[in-house]
Amino acid sequence: MSTRSTGLCGRLCLSGLFDRRVCAGACLLGFFWVCFCPDESVPPAGDDRGTASAGQMGARRQQISFRGRLSRRSIPIKIFERSEGDDVYGWGLTHFCCEGIDLGIIMSKTLAAIREKVEAGVRLSFEDGLALEESNDLFALGSMANMVRERLNRNFGYYNVNTHINPTNVCVYKCDFCAFRADLGEDRAYVMDQAQIEERARQAHARGATELHIVGGLHHKLPFEYYVDVVKWIKSAAPEIHIKAYTAVEIEWFAKISRKPLETILRELMDAGLGSLPGGGAEIFHPEVREQICGAKASTERWLEVHRVAHKLGLRSNATMLYGHIDRPRHRIDHLVRLRTLQDETGGFQTFIPLAFHPDNSRMDEIPKPSGVMDLKVMAISRLMLDNFEHIKAYWVMLGLKTAQVALAFGADDIDGTVVHEKIYHEAGAETPQEVTVAEIQRLIAEAGRIPIERDTLYHRVERDGGSWTSREHIDAAALAGAVAG
Ligand code: SF4
Repeated sequence: MSTRSTGLCGRLCLSGLFDRRVCAGACLLGFFWVCFCPDESVPPAGDDRGTASAGQMGARRQQISFRGRLSRRSIPIKIFERSEGDDVYGWGLTHFCCEGIDLGIIMSKTLAAIREKVEAGVRLSFEDGLALEESNDLFALGSMANMVRERLNRNFGYYNVNTHINPTNVCVYKCDFCAFRADLGEDRAYVMDQAQIEERARQAHARGATELHIVGGLHHKLPFEYYVDVVKWIKSAAPEIHIKAYTAVEIEWFAKISRKPLETILRELMDAGLGSLPGGGAEIFHPEVREQICGAKASTERWLEVHRVAHKLGLRSNATMLYGHIDRPRHRIDHLVRLRTLQDETGGFQTFIPLAFHPDNSRMDEIPKPSGVMDLKVMAISRLMLDNFEHIKAYWVMLGLKTAQVALAFGADDIDGTVVHEKIYHEAGAETPQEVTVAEIQRLIAEAGRIPIERDTLYHRVERDGGSWTSREHIDAAALAGAVAG
């Protein structure tokens, strides 16, 4: 919480929330200020991306209470009041002026109440999620998220060794944010054949990959059998590699083109060697956003249904959220709550991955990339809202290595893999390398104060011996912590 502003009397403004405003008041009783907030100091309506300002905290009545040398009891101070959608701030007793108080003890009552819930392991409500979004106290959010992260995953930072394959970039859909897709007949359009897929699988095996991550476009002409064959080709070339393939959007497309039920599609892929589903295609579930940016592809209901059916069949899956474009706090919290509800029902999700929007070469290239603050805020809020997800991943390809590393203190426990041949986000301007070495990933995790643990796709501990590897027991962070300590 900022503490920089001073009032006309030169005293420190303890709330620190109003340094964007003009204090035009007078000192009352030597302690209080009357503060008038002119319209131009108010953030524009709708400007509620992750860098929420103090003004946005005023969407509902806020109170701050604190204890300091001047008072031994908690003093609630009404800061200001604003009704939803009203851009005009009222005035009221806003600043408590004194000097020398330990400002670290000040926290909004709302955040303090949320913190109590987090400490007690009580589920956060939709409104709590909005309050977290409205807060600009990044460190308070981070410390709460870290509490949950360490409760679930102790001091471990997970990574894996994987390779990506995108069998085709040709896609019938034209999602506004997508820089990867190509039209049929375009110069950059491609479809990988059996030899290319098998070669990529053999390369991955030779490099010690435990996982192949496979997603791609929805080709106008390829039959469902091609996508089944891709899995079979990989399985024959590198039988021990786990195949995490096809987003819910692709599965839904396969059902459409083959006229088969979702369950049949998934069973056929599992019989071919499919091991789990990635979490892509979720974007933002809320219809206000989804209809604008990717209205043509699988609906929210179908995305969730694919995962529901997959979980019923025993497949584990991941989930994502593409943030930082036209989404607003309520859309993100709605997204997280929908995922949490399905997870309550099935328990089949492993990991949630917030995906930072990359605008380059997309039809939304006028929108700037999300800021570092937003990246960390979304990470922390995801950890706090998704109390039934075991893992939160900082996907370094999209976040950048440095932010991903810091995110290990903001709720993330996983930093993804060594990743070779990533195309989707590099087409959209990701400046990260195509791959990092295991040594580099381990160094980043260790430097963040975490213990690096290699995992496989299903979170079994991986043990390596020269060029070979073995999946060991499923990771139980408490047991692992005991083993490490012992
Ligand atoms: S995001 Fe997926 S479905 Fe949408 S255009 Fe790109 S490849 Fe196609």
